[in-house]
Amino acid sequence: MNKMSSTPQPLLSSAAKIAIIGGGVAGSTIALRFAELGLDTTLIEKGPSLVNGPPICHLHAGGNLYREICDEQCLTLLKQSIDTVRVYPHSINIRPTIIALPKTDKGQPTDLLPRLEKLRTKYSELVTQDIRNKVLGEPADYFRFYSREDITALVNKPIPNEASQASDWLISFAQHVDLDNLKFPVLLVQEYGWSAFRMAAITSLAIDRLSSCHLQTNSKVVAITQQENDSAWQVTTKNGIGSLNHQHFDYVINACGFKSGEIDDMVSAKRQRMVEFKAAYVAHWPQCQGLWPEIIFYGERGTPQGMAQLTPYPDGYFQLHGMTQDITLFDQGLVASSLHSAQPQLASRFIEKIDKQWPEQLVNNRTLGSIEHIAQFIPAFTQAEVAAKPLFGAQQIPGEDADLRAADVSFHGRHYARAEIVKGSSALAAADAILANLVDCGLIAETELGEYLTQHYFPVSQQCSESEVTERAMVLAKQRDYPIALAKNL
Ligand SMILES: Cc1cc2nc3c(=O)[nH]c(=O)nc-3n(C[C@H](O)[C@H](O)[C@H](O)COP(=O)(O)OP(=O)(O)OC[C@H]3O[C@@H](n4cnc5c(N)ncnc54)[C@H](O)[C@@H]3O)c2cc1C
Repeated sequence: MNKMSSTPQPLLSSAAKIAIIGGGVAGSTIALRFAELGLDTTLIEKGPSLVNGPPICHLHAGGNLYREICDEQCLTLLKQSIDTVRVYPHSINIRPTIIALPKTDKGQPTDLLPRLEKLRTKYSELVTQDIRNKVLGEPADYFRFYSREDITALVNKPIPNEASQASDWLISFAQHVDLDNLKFPVLLVQEYGWSAFRMAAITSLAIDRLSSCHLQTNSKVVAITQQENDSAWQVTTKNGIGSLNHQHFDYVINACGFKSGEIDDMVSAKRQRMVEFKAAYVAHWPQCQGLWPEIIFYGERGTPQGMAQLTPYPDGYFQLHGMTQDITLFDQGLVASSLHSAQPQLASRFIEKIDKQWPEQLVNNRTLGSIEHIAQFIPAFTQAEVAAKPLFGAQQIPGEDADLRAADVSFHGRHYARAEIVKGSSALAAADAILANLVDCGLIAETELGEYLTQHYFPVSQQCSESEVTERAMVLAKQRDYPIALAKNL
């Protein structure tokens, strides 16, 4: 495809050259945000393709998976998730999430009510401000509680393939979950699925088409220096065969995810952060197909009763999380930076898992453990089988609060920004904040940007059709050795 053929006229006349280091969801989103405006953007990624870091499966549109975080973070996640659906609609799997409290849990379902009401009010306000924000259904239906009687009434209905009413999403739940294990009511909330493979597809399709975006894959940044009396940067990359390349930029964005500290150390930028290694597992349960919501069974993180999360994909595939030390979490998997380095040091056993393969026995043990964890609540899930290698990676958490879930960006010195997202949906907010900083630095004229400083302008990304996204996402899933079902639209 000729990049020029589908690129609209650039909005900005700025000659600034921007480098983004790291092509995860943060770096790729920032690259798209800038290149769509016509900024000269270079995206440098050490791996062979984009959005191939730690997984993403859930759009945290309200932060309802996290009872421990403050309401403010939940409201931020809601707004950021709405923006994400608007910019990347074909990456979203539209299905609700059911949240159930096991009888062993210390809380009560109604404890969730005050926050849910705040979220519903906020969603309603956002829709009133701009009708295009109505991407999670009617605000009045943002959440709903179902009693045991409501659920029992669904037990004998056939599991449908499509939902014609909200309660259709509860039929598979009613038939398969051991209801005696739960407290009632259960909650249904409009937190959707988010496909990492479809995001990878959209970003790569759009970047292919944007003439102002220069993508350099298989290029690892190994050195970076700033001129003394100038703000310009020299960035040195190493390619797959070891050749070095020196390039000059006016502004550098560190979007290296859990490796952000390495770039911070190269530029002597101090920063306190944590890094956490985690994994999710892929199971196949072909005996039970049809309409499935995501199902969350709350539990205390880090204990054997840690939260269980069942994320549905087409063709009987499921992604599983269990917030116990034997499933998603790992002993010493959470580490912090030190006074001497902004890069938290994960033990080599984690780095080996990220850079090389997992031992087969570990894949089996942990996936079977996750199946058993879900089967406590869905007994027939013991029929499910290990379907692929885990989806895993390390995620950065800026600062000292390991529970922080809504973060975006920080700045250091002259013309240097770091994307510090914890959840994928914060990537757009990071891009917006850096754009505002480019204005503050005088690299872009605010008058030229106008409404696009705050309005998301993604004409090329939004032109990607659903079918081409699916096609590219399936190619990526195959290349990465995962079932293509994970790339299909639900
Ligand atoms: C098990 C698990 C489940 C998760 N589930 C969800 C979820 O459901 N929803 C959600 O929103 N979030 C989820 N997250 C969090 C989400 O994965 C992260 O927020 C997100 O991936 C961070 O994106 P990023 O772009 O900042 O970093 P990354 O995705 O890590 O991208 C950083 C990129 O930088 C590149 N890089 C690093 N160093 C260099 C260098 N020197 N030179 C060039 N390139 C470099 C890397 O190769 C990588 O591609 C989950 C995380 C984990 C671990």
